[in-house]
Amino acid sequence: MAVVVTGSTGFIGRHLVHALVAAGHQVLALDRRPATGLPAGAWPLVADLLDAEAADALLDAEAVFHLAARPGVRGSGGPESARTELRLRHRDNVLATAAVLAATPLSTPLVVTSSSSVYGGTARPGRPSRETDPLRPRGGYARSKVEVEQLCEQRRAAGGAVAVARPFTVAGEGQRPDMALARWITATSAGRPVTVLGSPLRTRDVTDVRDVVCGLQLLAEVGLGRTVNLGTGVSRPLTALLDAVCAAVRAPVEVRSQPAAYDEVADTCADTRRCQRLLGFTPSTDLDEVVRRQVAAAGVETCEAARG
Ligand code: NAD
Repeated sequence: MAVVVTGSTGFIGRHLVHALVAAGHQVLALDRRPATGLPAGAWPLVADLLDAEAADALLDAEAVFHLAARPGVRGSGGPESARTELRLRHRDNVLATAAVLAATPLSTPLVVTSSSSVYGGTARPGRPSRETDPLRPRGGYARSKVEVEQLCEQRRAAGGAVAVARPFTVAGEGQRPDMALARWITATSAGRPVTVLGSPLRTRDVTDVRDVVCGLQLLAEVGLGRTVNLGTGVSRPLTALLDAVCAAVRAPVEVRSQPAAYDEVADTCADTRRCQRLLGFTPSTDLDEVVRRQVAAAGVETCEAARG
């Protein structure tokens, strides 16, 4: 029997597969995109979660980490219309989760990745979001994650072993290219201006991908039945993220501002007490270090290195 990771070719999934193998697990890496660089001890299953092949794999799993999704509050940024984006989000977030829940036996430990976006930002600046807060999702992505959580709630009510993780802005090696830090690193290293949506004083709770992966593993062990924030409890203004990019790329960052869409909340910050109490740890992010790692992994040549 193996641990199954869905979304294993994605940003967080790749890190999780490596961590699980390092912890001695056999891992079935399930994603519709082919994997590269899987460690020994992991093997790929290239399938869509709505395929029968995926359901067969989930039936025999020792534990399931469900990360596959169509993430990002801004959508793909591709040419799809808003209507198509809505349909694809529903398919990959809601219907895919329903398929995972249906195929995974109730007794199999299952960790489902939701998102901090379900909170719709902090209720007021400086007041961290608690797991017990009413959900105020803004936009289609956040609403789809609320639906995902409702499906998990039904599974709990039926006696299923399920934990729900709410990660806050995850950073580190291989971050999704549509996310702000990744976009800013790419632009700055190419000498282009970066685009900041809304006020640069908006804040984000930035969480190191290593801590997120640690939190997901602990949830499978001691967090079943619970919903837990995976964040640091520290809000950082976008200016601090820009400074970290500037320091890591060793180049000046030129900022262009654009109005933020309604989906872009002003502030995010995790209440970390449940995570500490239940999992015995609180994520903590060394922003400069995590951005340096992200820059190094992206193969970005710093200006200093380019000068020889
Ligand atoms: P990602 O886009 O890098 O990875 C998602 C993977 O899921 C992709 O490889 C994709 O091919 C796969 N996938 C999507 N739909 C599928 C389907 N129907 N069948 C098979 N494979 C499918 O995303 P990520 O940033 O690694 O995020 C992982 C999870 O964490 C997502 O659920 C996301 O919503 C959640 N999350 C991420 C962040 C963050 O900051 N990155 C924050 C909060 C929550």
